[in-house]
Amino acid sequence: MDEKVEERIPRNFITDIIDEDLKNGRTQSVATRFPPEPNGYLHIGHAKSICLNFGLARDYNGTCNLRFDDTNPEKEDMEYIKSIENDVKWLGFNWSGAIRHSSDYFEMLFGFAMELIQKGLAYVDESTPEQIKNMRGTLKEPGVNSPYRDRSVEENARLFQDMRDGKFKEGEACLRAKIDMASPFMCMRDPVIYRVRYAAHAMTGDKWCIYPMYDFTHCISDAIENITHSICTLEFQDNRRLYDWVLDNISIKARPHQYEMSRLNLEYSITSKRKLNLLVDKGVVDGWDDPRLTTISGLRRRGYTPASIREFCRRIGVTKQENTIEMSALESCIREDLNVNAPRAMAVLRPLKLIIENYGQEGVEATSFEVPNHPDHPEMGTRCISFSKEIYIDEADFREEANKQYKRLKLGHEVRLRHGYIIKAISCDKDENGRVVCVHAEAVPHSAGADVEGHKPKGVIHFVDANNCFRTDVYLYSRLFKEPNPAAFDDFLSTVDENSLEIIKDAALELSLKDAVVGQSFQFEREGYFCVDSKHFKPSQPVFNLTVALRETKKVVA
Ligand code: ATP
Ligand code: MG
Repeated sequence: MDEKVEERIPRNFITDIIDEDLKNGRTQSVATRFPPEPNGYLHIGHAKSICLNFGLARDYNGTCNLRFDDTNPEKEDMEYIKSIENDVKWLGFNWSGAIRHSSDYFEMLFGFAMELIQKGLAYVDESTPEQIKNMRGTLKEPGVNSPYRDRSVEENARLFQDMRDGKFKEGEACLRAKIDMASPFMCMRDPVIYRVRYAAHAMTGDKWCIYPMYDFTHCISDAIENITHSICTLEFQDNRRLYDWVLDNISIKARPHQYEMSRLNLEYSITSKRKLNLLVDKGVVDGWDDPRLTTISGLRRRGYTPASIREFCRRIGVTKQENTIEMSALESCIREDLNVNAPRAMAVLRPLKLIIENYGQEGVEATSFEVPNHPDHPEMGTRCISFSKEIYIDEADFREEANKQYKRLKLGHEVRLRHGYIIKAISCDKDENGRVVCVHAEAVPHSAGADVEGHKPKGVIHFVDANNCFRTDVYLYSRLFKEPNPAAFDDFLSTVDENSLEIIKDAALELSLKDAVVGQSFQFEREGYFCVDSKHFKPSQPVFNLTVALRETKKVVA
């Protein structure tokens, strides 16, 4: 995928809203934000939100802030903060100005909470969390007012200050908005807006022992940053009432609006940080960047390019319809990208020795072939691949006998070596278990890269020079889950496919691949697209990860 291709966000209901807002003057410019909670690594669902928020800013000449929604000190971590910054940049986006944190606004948020108290719109509740839960009612039954609901403004102000000053233990008191315990929207039944937590915070350390809740924090942070369009996922539809209620009742000028879109659900994929964390903690996967995970870091290690992920997000679009996207939609994006951009190379994953018995005779003397790096892109140059009497072909490309459908090498038949000679299999050697260990063949003289009268091989197989190649490991990945919707299982870990990683030891690769470095991808001809693994990287000893097979249905190894 060319970086210059059209990346404008296709029209959707949010661009319609923005166009309308700009037309009727509700806003003069567009300001969005991406607000991750730093409690895990970013995943493909976040990429959808990133591409939308940063993309809108790009398309409308606006701004997009990166804001860490860090109101939950126990779960947040510097490691996550760094990984999120890195992933957003890697995807190709720049945030406007400095990185923001909800915690930058803790002092202001405290002030706005005091303002609600002064207006008689918030109270300190000393009920236990259990009691608060029991008083909330149900969707059918209204809730019950807390006995602390009608405290005086002065008492509430004093007690809220006491909360801040550490005079309450966790769970002994909280601050609640005074809205309506009979509201049909549960989130409006006097939601808790501050709670006591004695936990050190990644940014503010021990300064605070009360922390604001998401619903109170998010809308105010948006207003402080003059966000115009605050986009979140559909689960927050009801919470929009609370978003608006808070902003209606505090003295802040800016008036952001919240819009909800459906979240990205992807087949065979987990996009819950809690569940991803479980996979990492239990050692089911090799960290947050395991190439089988659809985390941004996992996709990167798998060989996905930023452009391919952006293209995927462009294709899935932005709607309010809940749906599940097929994994093949994501795979097509990287396959199309690498088909155009990845140089070709030859790699024999399961080497079987083949001896060319007439090598050295007239017309069968080549010691190398000059081959194009890409069949459609001469500007990508050529390279020399070595050739000699002994080569490796893939085990799957030879059979003693096979029917007509089998277009590869069989005894007594001819096949063309990719970029090389036509060869005919004469005989084979077997070990004591009957397994073929060596094939003897003869090459058709003068057939390297040329047609020879009377020889019309049906198939082409790839090879590497057995005397001049690079041996290394290749990691073949398939889907991590056996079920398309692992999240639907109570025990989603039971749907993990234990065979989703196959490590091929000692594959035989053409020598040029020895110098491959992290960030490089290749099409291993007839096998698939592969990239240099970043975790196991050593100079001159790269190991390779399967990114994606050449075609949707083809198994990588027959
Ligand atoms: P998780 O359930 O994995 O913790 P989250 O929604 O709590 O996800 P946040 O870090 O709060 O994760 O998300 C940051 C932004 O990314 C939010 O605006 C959120 O709406 C958006 N987002 C998260 N997951 C998805 C998804 N699957 N599809 C689209 N947007 C998403
Ligand atoms: Mg969240």
